[in-house]
Amino acid sequence: CGIVAYVGHRPSADVVIKGLRRLEYRGYDSAGLAVYENDRLEVFKKKGKVADLEAHIGSEKPKSTIGIGHTRWATHGAPTDGNAHPHFSGDGKLVMIHNGIIENYAALKKELSGKGHEFQSETDSEVLIHFIQDVKNNLDCGLAEAVRVALTKVVGAYAIVIMDEENPGTLIAARKGSPLVIGVGEGEYFLASDATPIVEYTNEVVYLNDMEMAVITRENLSVRHIEEDEEQEPYIQTLDLE
Ligand code: GLU
Repeated sequence: CGIVAYVGHRPSADVVIKGLRRLEYRGYDSAGLAVYENDRLEVFKKKGKVADLEAHIGSEKPKSTIGIGHTRWATHGAPTDGNAHPHFSGDGKLVMIHNGIIENYAALKKELSGKGHEFQSETDSEVLIHFIQDVKNNLDCGLAEAVRVALTKVVGAYAIVIMDEENPGTLIAARKGSPLVIGVGEGEYFLASDATPIVEYTNEVVYLNDMEMAVITRENLSVRHIEEDEEQEPYIQTLDLE
């Protein structure tokens, strides 16, 4: 239901947790965080409140300066720790948060299960990140292209953000139906379901349009249309915070 992600120079866990609190008003049943720490992707997730997630993370907060966080409002699979986001790909190299519903998840899941994929949750979301991994392996292409091609085959609504163990300074985001806003800072970018988690850091934002995806590093933001496969000039808006 709520998405917050960050790449920059601040401790991402602080930015993400604070942001998830700002999105609590949207309602949710579980919360989770993924960071890149000690040379690997680490996931913390918990049924309950953002406060329960914080308790689960404990006093030794991750120092990672890239991270993705989620508050879930369950649509497929009960509200449990295991069904909370983020979800890993089958090979554990990708991790994703998702808002929305993948309507053709059952058919995709059947196909992937036939290829040996094993799933840890009952969610439609986990099927999508396994599918992206599968497309990447089949096409033997970069992650951004795999995400793009996979999304052309998905029916439903989504806002997603993905982290990749092999490219630990990059966030890949995409949306259709569910909103996603990018905050533009100095050597840092923010992502969220709405601007409320972002406004305390920057008033420059890019509203991702439907069927657009973004590749974000500390230095750069590039936006592409998913179906037309064309680079889009990001339109930076300045929010009036008065
Ligand atoms: N359909 C997904 C799930 O049930 C995402 C729900 C959401 O938007 O929070 O896990």
